[in-house]
Amino acid sequence: MPDNIHRFIFDSFGIRGELVQLEDSVQRLLQSHQYPPAIADLLNQVAAVTILLTTTLKFEGRLTLQLQTSNKMKLLVVQANHKLGYRGIARYDKQADYNGMSFSDLTKGGQLSITIEPKKGKRYQGYVALDKDTFAACVEDYFNLSEQLKTRIWLFNNDSQSCGLLLQALPDMLSQDSFDHLVYLAETLTAEECLSIDASVLLSRLFHQEEVRDLQLDEVKFHCGCSKKKMLDSVALFPVEEIQSMIEEKGKITVKCEFCLNQFNFNALDLKRHQAIQGNKTQH
Ligand SMILES: [Zn+2]
Repeated sequence: MPDNIHRFIFDSFGIRGELVQLEDSVQRLLQSHQYPPAIADLLNQVAAVTILLTTTLKFEGRLTLQLQTSNKMKLLVVQANHKLGYRGIARYDKQADYNGMSFSDLTKGGQLSITIEPKKGKRYQGYVALDKDTFAACVEDYFNLSEQLKTRIWLFNNDSQSCGLLLQALPDMLSQDSFDHLVYLAETLTAEECLSIDASVLLSRLFHQEEVRDLQLDEVKFHCGCSKKKMLDSVALFPVEEIQSMIEEKGKITVKCEFCLNQFNFNALDLKRHQAIQGNKTQH
């Protein structure tokens, strides 16, 4: 299945929708991290929701969903840009047993933050408590409370795929009944269908008696965005003596990107060049 997000609208009802299906990108997201299944599942779901929310960005920039708790699963972050490239990571107590842990077991007492960072303009941040039984219900809560937008979200995933369906009332929604009617139809969607059937076929099956207008189909991909340059910038922040002693000891400094696990090696010459460039920048 290609990694896509499909946007559509029920014009006569004033209700919009999105269907996201991810496969390659979630495999890349989880690859080599060896997350316990309960945490991998949650990361998959957060990835699907991040893309559902990013699609509505009307500017260049980045959207970040962050779940923070004081439990064994400490932090889970997914970031996406306006081109629908995303990355994510979970930090958790690696000694703990996550077998059979539910969403509430992982996130009880925690908080979800949604941060929007436009390239130009003001940063926006919204919060919602992680006090529902599912992640989808927490995000619905966020929209219903903070944004006053009636929203329903359905999420399905397995260990290598993740899908999400969103229905949202527009300001000109016809009636509550029309929203309830579409929700009733959407409730019939099964994980098996969502994870195996092409979006356009799925939508025409689900809403075959309704007038659905396709808006846009966009490709989604895993994109970390790390680079040798960015890594070198962060290495250069260490004290000079520390950098020198690390290079003397091993002949190089190795840094691993915590998101994509790519490794970057820097030798004395790399650092010297970097310092020279930085020096030039500060002089001018
Ligand atoms: Zn990376």
